[in-house]
Amino acid sequence: MDSTSRARVEAWLRYGESLGLGPYYRDRASEHAVQAPADGEISVRAEAAPSAAAAAARVRVPVFASAQKPASASPFVPVAAGPSLFEAAERIEGDTLEKIREDIGDCTRCKLHKARTNIVFGVGNPKAQLVFIGEGPGRDEDAQGEPFVGRAGKLLTQMIEAMSLRREDVYICNVVKCRPPENRLPEKDEIATCSPFLIRQLAAIGPKVICCLGACAAQTLLQTNQGISRFRGEWFDFRGSKLIATYHPAYLLRNPNAKGEVWKDLQKVMAVLGLEAKRR
Ligand code: SF4
Repeated sequence: MDSTSRARVEAWLRYGESLGLGPYYRDRASEHAVQAPADGEISVRAEAAPSAAAAAARVRVPVFASAQKPASASPFVPVAAGPSLFEAAERIEGDTLEKIREDIGDCTRCKLHKARTNIVFGVGNPKAQLVFIGEGPGRDEDAQGEPFVGRAGKLLTQMIEAMSLRREDVYICNVVKCRPPENRLPEKDEIATCSPFLIRQLAAIGPKVICCLGACAAQTLLQTNQGISRFRGEWFDFRGSKLIATYHPAYLLRNPNAKGEVWKDLQKVMAVLGLEAKRR
């Protein structure tokens, strides 16, 4: 290489370093080194959280139901080695729901703050054994500042009561705390910005079971972009809690025929929690 070209390359590399791109180029080769999952585990990718992309997230998720489903049938895409978004996140010693709400404050961290009426933090038992997570507040939730209070919320309450629980026995929250305009799905940057608060909520509560309602919550926590029908009703581990995904109550309002599938999922949750179905 002649001296002029060499000087140009060196200047370009200095520019890249100043932008923080050095590690990206240096580590990029390892990001493409796909490793096969070990028996009883699946690997999933942080497609739902762009800020985690640079970390080339790889999470190993033990499948409690792996005996029923061979590893070769795993719907997930193996990804490159590296810390996942959530593995990298430090647990905050002595964290509480009050402290997390305080930290959120009058949040303007993402663009969802512009059209919201209320931040919808979450409700329920701060030491619940069961946490339900939806995607984001709708119109009624935005107006009242409480998750799952509209038609879908009423159906969720019925589902909870059918499990022999009361709404106040469980904890209910969403991936994003502000209403997406026109009830659209939360976007990747919004999820990436807001989901650390959800992770802190889960760590503070320490539930035995996390039940993701719909694809958004499940894809965020499992760090996958696979459709929910590929893994609905399966057990996963999430930081010491058992995690299961089922359909969102809003989906059930549109597709009542799916209620039977959801009830089967809830019965699995009840079995783990030692609950018996309510007698009619
Ligand atoms: Fe803040 Fe979350 Fe609301 Fe975005 S959605 S403004 S990150 S509280």
